Amino acid sequence: MISRVLSTSKTSVSRLSQKRLMSRLAPAQASKLTDIGIRDIFDSDHDMFREMTRNWFETEVKPFHGEWEKAGEVPRELWTKAGEMGLLSNMVPEEYGGLGLDCKYPAIVWEEQSYSGCTGPGFAMHSDIVAPYITNYGTEEQKQRMLPKLVSGEWIGALGMTEPSAGSDFANIKTVAVQDGDDYILNGSKVFITNGWLCDVCIVCAKTDPSKGAHGVSLFLIEDGMEGFIKGNKLNKMGMKAQDTCELFFEDLRVPASAMLGPKDKGFYCVMQELPQERLLIADMGVASAEAVFEASREYVCDRKAFKGKLSDLQTVSHKLAEMKTDTVVGRAFVDQCIELHAEHKLKSDQASMAKYWCTDLQSKIADHGVQLHGGWGYMWEYDVCKHFVDSRVQSIYGGANEIMKELIGRSITNPR
Ligand SMILES: Cc1cc2nc3c(=O)[nH]c(=O)nc-3n(C[C@H](O)[C@H](O)[C@H](O)COP(=O)(O)OP(=O)(O)OC[C@H]3O[C@@H](n4cnc5c(N)ncnc54)[C@H](O)[C@@H]3O)c2cc1C
Repeated sequence: MISRVLSTSKTSVSRLSQKRLMSRLAPAQASKLTDIGIRDIFDSDHDMFREMTRNWFETEVKPFHGEWEKAGEVPRELWTKAGEMGLLSNMVPEEYGGLGLDCKYPAIVWEEQSYSGCTGPGFAMHSDIVAPYITNYGTEEQKQRMLPKLVSGEWIGALGMTEPSAGSDFANIKTVAVQDGDDYILNGSKVFITNGWLCDVCIVCAKTDPSKGAHGVSLFLIEDGMEGFIKGNKLNKMGMKAQDTCELFFEDLRVPASAMLGPKDKGFYCVMQELPQERLLIADMGVASAEAVFEASREYVCDRKAFKGKLSDLQTVSHKLAEMKTDTVVGRAFVDQCIELHAEHKLKSDQASMAKYWCTDLQSKIADHGVQLHGGWGYMWEYDVCKHFVDSRVQSIYGGANEIMKELIGRSITNPR
């Protein structure tokens, strides 16, 4: 399926630029914010991929998500099915089993997952945070061995930075990796790890030189089944109920030096390089959630009978929709600009921080309005808007709390390099 969809992706540059010249509707002009075939940053190949992805989430994920919320995880088979469809790690170069696609394809997967309202599969963490670390910093052996398995979904990836006593204050992590001959011995723990329960490989940040703070951190590829690698219980979260989030423990975990990812003591620099994409994907999923909530709310109030008419006939309600739509298309315009810059490898860290902070705040605000417009039904779990509301809450916390984003943006303004 994916090969058919993408056979036309490898078109000549001239055809692509021709397609870009064809004007596409801006979201504000389209009949729905979620329409396929709109937004100038995409072309017809992206549209085909989006249609396939939308259909996949509607048929393979949405009908089963309620069961997975009770289980606190999604089945492993979902990952291999997603791999077969080319939905996982699709930017990984072809020589490592990937499709070598531009960053707009994963963006389509982020957006379609948000439109479906199904936050269970931790695909974005796996595909667009973990896989890029290995692609960018892995040795040839690490890339050959791990990337094809991440692309196919045979393996699930996680990233372990946060610890019980160190989240925003990354320099304060306590997990250590002490050199012992040709090996390293890890001791410590991580908390709130997305995909932590199901993961086959976790990139773990550990201090190899505790005297240097953040500048003494190295990354290690820790594999499921290694002696001393212990998975804690799945955590009982407010939202994202079907996503497995857990604690991880390292107890005298001995790994060969070949398990180190990237240069020794340079883990912090690797993290800094990868953060813009992580923040962009959080922002994009935030705007997509706002788009979905706006459309669901519009449909609801245009249908709901009250006061001898419809809720949408009330001026306060139509003004609320006006605010929601305007705010959302403004957010979309900025995120699309960031996606375009990222596709050209020009996205700056402070821009990604702006997108992350502003769009996740937008997402929470729109979700709150959406619940209000749905009345009591908005508080019921069977309504997507209810899930969007609880799932939105964490977006301003992880990937760097929004207060940290403002700190970074502020520094780039007052102390530009
Ligand atoms: C569902 C979920 C999934 C997650 N997935 C992962 C994962 O896969 N891997 C991973 O490593 N981590 C993950 N995290 C952890 C997440 O990144 C951290 O929770 C986040 O970085 C904040 O750290 P903290 O919880 O320790 O809060 P703290 O650092 O204690 O901060 C608490 C609050 O204080 C304020 N604050 C902190 N520092 C400042 C400052 N300098 N200036 C102003 N205000 C400040 C902010 O409001 C912040 O929210 C996840 C968290 C959740 C909830």
